[in-house]
Amino acid sequence: MRALSLTKEIAKQLEPVSDCAAFEARCLLEHFFSLSHNDIYLDKELGEPDLSALNEAVEKRLSYIPLQYILGEWEFMDSTFEVNENVLIPRPETELLCECLAEHIHKESVVYDLCAGSGCIAVSVAKATGAQVYAIEKYVGAFEVLKRNIEKNGADSVVPIQADITRKAPADLPAADIILSNPPYIESAVIPALQREVQCEPLTALDGGEDGLYFYRQIFKNYVLLLKSGGLIAMEIGEGQAESLKSIFDSLHFEKTVYDYNQIPRVVIFRKGKE
Ligand code: GLN
Repeated sequence: MRALSLTKEIAKQLEPVSDCAAFEARCLLEHFFSLSHNDIYLDKELGEPDLSALNEAVEKRLSYIPLQYILGEWEFMDSTFEVNENVLIPRPETELLCECLAEHIHKESVVYDLCAGSGCIAVSVAKATGAQVYAIEKYVGAFEVLKRNIEKNGADSVVPIQADITRKAPADLPAADIILSNPPYIESAVIPALQREVQCEPLTALDGGEDGLYFYRQIFKNYVLLLKSGGLIAMEIGEGQAESLKSIFDSLHFEKTVYDYNQIPRVVIFRKGKE
């Protein structure tokens, strides 16, 4: 059996559930047969491979389980992250959040990543800058993935902390130069209408309460007081939330909005004024 014909066969099977069936089929083959892009491109001879794991993966995908959970890992920035049903799948838009304050973060910076989930933000920022990043996550399932992702990526300067951001911040946290967060921000009522794949992701990572803004208010209440004077806070937001964020954070100085690849305001940045 050859790589290319098997990829095409799998792509055909995935078409009913995916708009990018060819890409997904390639990812599955690479994963289950340890192939490179080139192996597929050059149509490597596979002999008579055991297809059981691949077929099982296709079945899962046909029941709308996201590809990333089936593979158990996903790329984000320059690293590979373990992902499972306990964490949100890292999205390309979230890379904007990691990049937008890069020039302000250095080895001596203290950074918080609030609602850290898989740790994709904390680990990427720590790897790129060497900063001390406090990754705060409430849920034990996600917290375990976060710790493994720190280890897997050798991100020694990330400190995982299991804590609930809707409560007062842990007493021993040093003041922050930078706060980053991609909190849950989808309005509760919208969630049942989301794509079936998204519904496989943890509700706790998606649901931002009635107006989607619950966690931003909590961040404002519990964490802005720990931001140093002159410090910056950048948060990922949902479509149409930028103005509401400006009202919630109105005691800070609004710096800028970062737009995503679809020209949607995706990250807002505020500065805590010098007292
Ligand atoms: N910070 C994590 C991420 O961006 C998790 C976000 C969340 O759970 N809402 O992937």
